[in-house]
Amino acid sequence: MLKEFPGLARAVEAFARSEFQEAERYAFAVRQEALRSKNRLLEALATGWIGAALTQQSRYQDAVEHLQLAITTLNGLDRPELTARFHNYVAVVFEELGDPDAAFVSFAHALAGAQASGQRELQARILANIGEAYVNLEQFDRAREPLRQAAALLEDLEDDSLLGWVRCAQGRLAHGAGELEGAHGLLVQAVELTDRGIANRGRAESRVGLGTLYSELGRHEEAVAMLEEALSIAQSVSNRREVFKTRLALSEAHERAGNLEKALENYKAFHLARTEVFDEAARATTHLQRVETELSKERFEREIWRLRNVELATALERLEEQARQLVRLSVRDGLTGVFNRRHLDEQLPSELERARRTNQPISVAMVDLDNFKRINDTVGHAVGDRALQVIAEVIGSLLRQSDFVARYGGEEFAIVFADTNCEAAAAASERIREAIASRDWADIHPDIRLTASFGVAQADATSDAGKLLDEADARLYAAKAAGRNRVVASAVPPVVASSI
Ligand code: GH3
Ligand code: MG
Ligand code: MG
Repeated sequence: MLKEFPGLARAVEAFARSEFQEAERYAFAVRQEALRSKNRLLEALATGWIGAALTQQSRYQDAVEHLQLAITTLNGLDRPELTARFHNYVAVVFEELGDPDAAFVSFAHALAGAQASGQRELQARILANIGEAYVNLEQFDRAREPLRQAAALLEDLEDDSLLGWVRCAQGRLAHGAGELEGAHGLLVQAVELTDRGIANRGRAESRVGLGTLYSELGRHEEAVAMLEEALSIAQSVSNRREVFKTRLALSEAHERAGNLEKALENYKAFHLARTEVFDEAARATTHLQRVETELSKERFEREIWRLRNVELATALERLEEQARQLVRLSVRDGLTGVFNRRHLDEQLPSELERARRTNQPISVAMVDLDNFKRINDTVGHAVGDRALQVIAEVIGSLLRQSDFVARYGGEEFAIVFADTNCEAAAAASERIREAIASRDWADIHPDIRLTASFGVAQADATSDAGKLLDEADARLYAAKAAGRNRVVASAVPPVVASSI
């Protein structure tokens, strides 16, 4: 495959070295070239490799877009091994997003394609992924067979790096199943094998496996040394997931060794890295729902067409209702049920346009919950999620028919006040602020209190959506700086550069 396209070789080599940003850049350049020269196969390949590199960087949304595009582009080109490779990556994305059912469906597609094309290295890779997915789910009995098959294929192919990765999964399996001696042998072998190759992600992963085992065996110094090594390797790879896994393992190892300060330090770093991945995952999940919705909409439309022909009027109505329901879902945030960011991005420009046409004022408020991270940290994510749902309800209940609220990001909301000037929007925001601050949260959790800060801005003749939201955001920032739990609705003085 690479002989056909030397330009891709650099991307693939960078990928093999776990230099995923490099790989993405090279593949991007190749894709531009393929589009210019109208080479569909090359375009599909480059697109797929971009997707693979994005997956490794936990940039799931872009990754899925590219992988699906690659699969579509391959349609009709009769290259089942490539389609299989990209299905394999889609599966990995689903797995990392915590949707194993969807992952196994894609793995099955991938495996079928790999078997049909007789590509044994690819088969081994997919089997290893499947086994690893079962290990992650702690379904150890199901993990054994695919990992055994993967290892057998790789022993024949003499691929140390990949075999090391499989040994690592087998070692983790043995560890999880309580077979500690076997686990030790496998993980030592995993470190040796991966060190012979250039795939740094595998080198980090096998050290995490071995370090974690040492820690459990009470071999604290070896554990910490091994995990520190893993961390520095993981940090050299632009893979955030590997970094946060390593941080967590280090934190637990320090805790077992009685070094609580180091444990906390690593736990904080773990949390930070995980939040980044988590935020990205949340965005991607919304997006995937959208892709799914669009696909089902298409299916519905086809079905409706068929029914029209046989004149089944009642069934048609039901389907149309379902289609409407799907459209409704695609503009809603999954957690809170309020509009999602995409809807805001689509709607706000037309709201601004309407205000201009009708010569009416329009304002927006940016709302950000105060010290929300603390809620998650102290009483857990589930309570945090529930609190977000209630906040959305409270805001929604205090808005007029013509206003709307959207979840802007994690714990941020944006409110659009139609036909409303800044003073009135500030007063409405103040009512919402008060309702949140005075609510008794005991029904959610006895130990929480919540407040929110607001930044309110009114559009002027030159405002576009971006500028208006930025202005509200600057005022929100001022509300935070002034002590939180307040509404700021006046212009923030520009920062004056101080001469030092
Ligand atoms: P500040 O007052 O400065 O806004 O403090 P903060 O802690 O709210 O600020 P920050 O933006 O650093 O943290 C926001 C936190 O919100 C991070 C993340 O843990 C949490 N978060 C974001 N989205 C969700 C979600 O969907 N569910 C839950 N439970 N927590 C979320
Ligand atoms: Mg925030
Ligand atoms: Mg906040």
